[in-house]
Amino acid sequence: MNAPKVEHPAPTAKSLGLEPLLSVSGLTKRFHPALPPVVQEVSFQVKQGEIFALLGPSGCGKTTTLRLIAGFEPADGGKVVMDSKNLSHLPAEDRGIGFVFQDYALFPHLSVFGNVAFGLRGLSPKARRARVEEVLSLVGLTVFKDRKPAELSGGQQQRVALARAIAPGPQLILLDEPFSSLDAALRQSTRDEVRALLKHNQIGAVLVTHDQEEALSFADRLAVMRGGRLEQTGTPEAVYAHPQTPFVAQFLGRTNLIPGEAKGLEAETPLGRLVLTQAAQGAVLLSLRPEGLSLASPLGQFGISARQLEGEVLSREFKGHDLTYRVRLGSRELTVQESPESPFQPGDKVRLLVRAKAVVVGGQDKLGAGD
Ligand code: ATP
Repeated sequence: MNAPKVEHPAPTAKSLGLEPLLSVSGLTKRFHPALPPVVQEVSFQVKQGEIFALLGPSGCGKTTTLRLIAGFEPADGGKVVMDSKNLSHLPAEDRGIGFVFQDYALFPHLSVFGNVAFGLRGLSPKARRARVEEVLSLVGLTVFKDRKPAELSGGQQQRVALARAIAPGPQLILLDEPFSSLDAALRQSTRDEVRALLKHNQIGAVLVTHDQEEALSFADRLAVMRGGRLEQTGTPEAVYAHPQTPFVAQFLGRTNLIPGEAKGLEAETPLGRLVLTQAAQGAVLLSLRPEGLSLASPLGQFGISARQLEGEVLSREFKGHDLTYRVRLGSRELTVQESPESPFQPGDKVRLLVRAKAVVVGGQDKLGAGD
């Protein structure tokens, strides 16, 4: 018997990851003519199945950006394109995008089943039931299908909201601070489950959060947003290791900002001569992460340059997996992250060791390519 001929669909630019699933360009929104726009020229792309996070402080325009993409607000400028189709003038219900709200926005009078079925009104009753059951099983809520939202825990409500958003089979869902009302332990496990579910089903997502740890661990790529603009976009690793501005360095993690005078790949600073991750010339501002510094006992009789790096422990914060010191060095205070066994106490004299390269985050004459 001849083997059946298997026909594979021809790969498309999108299935090969060459064409973005979502392309946002120049998105701008102004709520008041006398005030600056709350979203200004925001541009980014999301690939199929990719998780992208918008991270920034309260009021920087994250939720508004998400609402513009969803079509809940009209934009004043810019374009939202999904799957090569311009959505900019389509109403929200025709965009084929799922949305999970911060407060979940579940219908209190409907059961879990009813909430998830709500977005599936175009299907026959039989197809609808089958799809709701499939999605409830996917999020592990089958046994709760007859309960009302008020009879569920916060984590279970969160999963109903997610199930409702993914039930119509969107390629993209928008998540507005979806984990913020969960307690710390549940937040971590729910985050892991949601991430696995999105990845397994190849659903792209844009997550809005002000929690840097959440953005770093949940997203494939992220953008740090400030005052309505995206300040830096990249993988969590790249943005954390190579912040391009003082704001990004401070918002994504903790850091020490140190002025210096750069000459190529080195800079003279109050901490002595530091090696840089990229070449620069002239006055610069440098970022040194607390984990790039460590403490040792003072040197005693050794030379002046070593004594320059002698300081005093101001405070010690034990956190189980690590330990954070505040250390005074001359007129400067620095944050140093050490292993939990580190023995120093407030008042101890210590010597500062620089273990990492410094990143140029400001200065007129930054040279070389950034990440
Ligand atoms: P948070 O993390 O606190 O939710 P956010 O980064 O999501 O903040 P947005 O909710 O997008 O910020 O708000 C950005 C700015 O736009 C804020 O100054 C807010 O007051 C303003 N804003 C949002 N919605 C409206 C509206 N409908 N009318 C007028 N101003 C608005």
